[in-house]
Amino acid sequence: MADQVENCVFCKIVAGEIPSTKVYEDDAYLAFLDIRPQAPGHTLIIPKQHYRWVWDVPNVGEYFERVRSIALALQSSFGTEEVHCRVIGEEVPHAHVWVYPAPNKARGAKDAFSENAERIRAAL
Ligand SMILES: [Zn+2]
Repeated sequence: MADQVENCVFCKIVAGEIPSTKVYEDDAYLAFLDIRPQAPGHTLIIPKQHYRWVWDVPNVGEYFERVRSIALALQSSFGTEEVHCRVIGEEVPHAHVWVYPAPNKARGAKDAFSENAERIRAAL
């Protein structure tokens, strides 16, 4: 089980203490929709274990295979091959990667969360 860090919003999401719209989950990783999307289907992929930075995740190649799977699902779900990816990490101190279709090219509504999540899950 992931070790939860006190007051970490993403650890609380992993623990189910804060609700999220999940699109993918396995033993080590979780992907869910961003609550302030840049584009329809804007997804965050996080390790369930708390790490401060993406660069602290020991099996970062395995982590990015999940990121790639989400990116491919976004390509087929929102009508554009152009999928943006951002790794910054200053907003929430728990490793996370953003992926979202190009905002000016993506089909669909940014705030149609359950519909967008369903589209991504169906494409995975
Ligand atoms: Zn955390």
